[in-house]
Amino acid sequence: MATEVAPGVHRLGNEMVNFYLVEADGGLVVVDAGLPAFYDELEALLRARGRTVAEIDALLLTHAHGDHVGIAERVRREGVPVRIHEADAGQARTAKNHPREGGMLRYFRHGQTWRLLAMGLRNGAIKPVKIADVATFGEGELDVPGRPRVIHTPGHSPGHCVFHFEGQGALIAGDALCTWNPLTGRPGPQIMPGAFSFSNAQAMESLGRIEPIDAGVLLVGHGDPWTAGVGAAVARAREAGVS
Ligand SMILES: [Zn+2]
Repeated sequence: MATEVAPGVHRLGNEMVNFYLVEADGGLVVVDAGLPAFYDELEALLRARGRTVAEIDALLLTHAHGDHVGIAERVRREGVPVRIHEADAGQARTAKNHPREGGMLRYFRHGQTWRLLAMGLRNGAIKPVKIADVATFGEGELDVPGRPRVIHTPGHSPGHCVFHFEGQGALIAGDALCTWNPLTGRPGPQIMPGAFSFSNAQAMESLGRIEPIDAGVLLVGHGDPWTAGVGAAVARAREAGVS
């Protein structure tokens, strides 16, 4: 069920994985692409607003992981440009993963890990999604509706980026941090679990890059919106440490 989490910013997905639609300047931008089964939800939200998938101006990806690119190729085939940081573009095209900080084994004592995997299977995560054509960006303001500012936050993946939509008062932070741990179920701001990340140390360091951003709402790939300030979320994430 889509909910409006900031003016013109809609949260889509399910209880474990989020992606976002931003309406700004009369245009449409989608940030991240969830799991393959989420296409119908996006289409329904757009239909309710008298719009279609083909009218989306751009699909921006925070990074190339499977639970953030699910509907990207299908949206691209409707003529929508898909854009990602250059350091994650190779993974977006090939679905070949970078190395990770340790394996999954130690998480299986958490019931939540089993629930996440089952949810992924139900929603089409079994077949890796390759995006046939992606355009790349570096840091700075993007020429798409809302004119988001891109900040490179490597760690969770080499090319991970966050998008600051200043006019909407929203920072869409992808997996630079989460507000709920998808493997352990632990609530609150924290970096993503190591089994999903390229480098915990780098992810911790990148928190410093988003810390000064002034945004009314922090929106993440996993967990609920956080409205108590980006700086406070970063402080909590540092306190939480790695998992
Ligand atoms: Zn990720």
